Amino acid sequence: MGISFDYYHRTSEPLHHETAQDFFLKLYKKGDEFEERTVEQYYDEDFHQFLADRYIVGTCPRCGHPEAYGDQCEKCGSDLSPSELINPRSTLSGKTPILRPTKHWYFKLDKHAGWLREWIATGVLDGKQHHDPRQWRKHVVGQCLSWLDGGLQPRAITRDLDWGIALPLSEQEAAGKVLYVWFDAPIGYISSTKQWALENGKDWEAYWKGGDDVKLIHFIGKDNIVFHCIVFPAMLKAYGDFVLPYNVPANQFLNFEGQKFSKSRGWGIEQHEYLEDFKDFPNKEDALRYALLRNLPENRDSDFKWDEFVDFHDKDLADNLGNFVNRVAVLTHKYYDGVVPAVDGPW
Ligand SMILES: [Zn+2]
Repeated sequence: MGISFDYYHRTSEPLHHETAQDFFLKLYKKGDEFEERTVEQYYDEDFHQFLADRYIVGTCPRCGHPEAYGDQCEKCGSDLSPSELINPRSTLSGKTPILRPTKHWYFKLDKHAGWLREWIATGVLDGKQHHDPRQWRKHVVGQCLSWLDGGLQPRAITRDLDWGIALPLSEQEAAGKVLYVWFDAPIGYISSTKQWALENGKDWEAYWKGGDDVKLIHFIGKDNIVFHCIVFPAMLKAYGDFVLPYNVPANQFLNFEGQKFSKSRGWGIEQHEYLEDFKDFPNKEDALRYALLRNLPENRDSDFKWDEFVDFHDKDLADNLGNFVNRVAVLTHKYYDGVVPAVDGPW
């Protein structure tokens, strides 16, 4: 597709594990960022493990869809929690899971609500203008403020899983506990910068703790707004010294022929198939890039349709742009001997 990575790093790298554990430990030692809670969670007795939200399916309490997941119903789009499912069952054993007590660490997001609201609504942070809130997309600000209006709750940042980043606490205190993926994933931006800096003789802190010289911008989809505008900024502020996002230009969803893209349902376009289907077209990459830009879901969901793709290509690119370039070239040869004439304004 004519795309290359400036830098590629993974959250499975040891440097990331260290960075994420350091982050947890610093907040843990501050003493008032986390609270420990014992909660009841679904457990599969045959497989001897607590079940992540996606490992529990059941009937959606809102629409009756029998295959809703523990965190979401794909039929009606509702956000769910596992305890809301009717007739829950484990995707591992197929059996009904039991509830068992387990201890988790909760990040006290509620404690950060005050400054988060001021920062998002006015762009003011620690009494200084941090960014211009008019440059943020309205739907991003609107979504954040509606979360804040609903009241932020402490959020579990650990899980019982046999993979992931182990909690850097004693075995006795935290056996089998790992960091929740949305706690460690954004820290991956920091560890990636660290690794890049190591390999290129740079100072990573200049990019994350450089004060007003640094502009941290997250390009994401709207389903990740809460993590990049609320949770991660609160983590960064709690740690101290880090810059906060300057802007989070989140896009809305791009659908395909009127429905959500879905890998599991095979609804969408696979990149390798596109390249194969259009292999005889020399500018196939740019044609698709243009169609995606033309349809970018900046402020509302948009739709990719094959007949529009053909129109964008034939009318916009070939007819309009192609004709314009062709005329300019032909007339430049006809009237100016093929040399771009000097501008003799004023226009
Ligand atoms: Zn549903």
